[in-house]
Amino acid sequence: MRKDDCIFCKIANGEIPSKTLYEDDSFRIILDLGPAARGHALILPKEHAENLYELPEDTATAAFMLAKKMASRLKDRLRCDGLNVVQNNGEAAGQTVFHFHIHLIPRYQKDGQHIGWKPGKPSSEELEEIRAQIVD
Ligand code: 5GP
Ligand code: ZN
Repeated sequence: MRKDDCIFCKIANGEIPSKTLYEDDSFRIILDLGPAARGHALILPKEHAENLYELPEDTATAAFMLAKKMASRLKDRLRCDGLNVVQNNGEAAGQTVFHFHIHLIPRYQKDGQHIGWKPGKPSSEELEEIRAQIVD
């Protein structure tokens, strides 16, 4: 299903033009308008799902398969030195467009970008408590 007020539904389905790198019946891959680096691409499913939790499993499988293929393409064609795969879910995680998408961000030795986090220093007990909360 498409969502009427969703900009990525409109882009994915061709109602709003975009710089398209790939399209099939279920997906469109476009260049990001506010790229972190040269060649920053977004994989958009044509069906609306707000985030990874809502994404049907078969769409998730196909999306990450496409991520693998397009990552290699970007590496070959743009000759980037590295590549980040980023996928944000929820405002707290930096999601600003609430239609599932995968970022493919080619990286270059001196691109000046920093995509990362400040490492914590949890104790073994803290890690065990977290593990138990997730698994048990
Ligand atoms: P998020 O922060 O939700 O993970 O990523 C949203 C991304 O969509 C941002 O990198 C932003 O630059 C990009 N974006 C937002 N609106 C548009 C648009 O209309 N066209 C394109 N091509 N990219 C967009
Ligand atoms: Zn949508």
